[in-house]
Amino acid sequence: MQIQQARAHIMATLAGGESPRADADALLCHLLECRRSYLMTWPERELDAAQLATLQGWLERRLNGEPIAHLIGEREFWSLPLKVSPATLIPRPDTEVLVEQALGRLPAGPCAVLDLGTGTGAIALALKSERPDADVWAVDRMPAAAALARANSAALGLPIEVRDGSWFEPLVEPSSSKAPRFAMIVSNPPYIDGADPHLDEGDVRFEPRSALVADEQGLADIRLIVAGAPAHLLPGGWLLLEHGWQQGEAVRQLLLQQGYLQVETVRDYGDNERVTLGRLAQ
Ligand code: GLN
Repeated sequence: MQIQQARAHIMATLAGGESPRADADALLCHLLECRRSYLMTWPERELDAAQLATLQGWLERRLNGEPIAHLIGEREFWSLPLKVSPATLIPRPDTEVLVEQALGRLPAGPCAVLDLGTGTGAIALALKSERPDADVWAVDRMPAAAALARANSAALGLPIEVRDGSWFEPLVEPSSSKAPRFAMIVSNPPYIDGADPHLDEGDVRFEPRSALVADEQGLADIRLIVAGAPAHLLPGGWLLLEHGWQQGEAVRQLLLQQGYLQVETVRDYGDNERVTLGRLAQ
């Protein structure tokens, strides 16, 4: 079978899905360890039997619901190829909105940034890629996620400080190296209500509940971060939080009650309220 035939076969097989063309390209690029341009330049190149068998195995798993990112073990975020695993959330394009907003507010010159619940390290590594002068810290409670963030940091040559632990806990220094006060704290925490029917649909079925679901209608972890951040922020420091499309008002209220200033919500590419932010008094 030729590349172009395989591409058509994958697209036909995954036609009911969200992005058959992008999925076909992602699978073929991973299979052939090539860039997308190669698929277009060499459409008549033949796949061998082993490659076809691998591809068929992936298609069967995909038809069974497994996310493409889990099949190939990789997902691009902010143009960075990140290793992913079932240990944590698959980075979403909408989270790039959080990165854009963060970059626009980071002070010029060296500063420290903290990413809470980093998962693959997506947000922390995107920030580090744009601001090599920033001291980027990342925390995750799940050891497999923290390990993945460290592996991505090493593979991409983007040095960040990854700590194991729940939210602010690993920043309370028992001994030597003191955690800095941060100019900014960012997080894409779990924020889905455990009763949300979307949890039974699509890719989220294959992601850990611990990365998705929070108590108190999905707001428990956001509350904790809003309350804990001031002790770790510099005066004038920013907090940016991703949240569910219907949580904007609730998160703004939490920030205002806690005394944050310049509180606002930014919409994602689907025009849903997605990132709410505020800052401490100078
Ligand atoms: N945005 C993701 C979803 O709705 C959830 C991400 C999260 O819980 N942090 O699938």
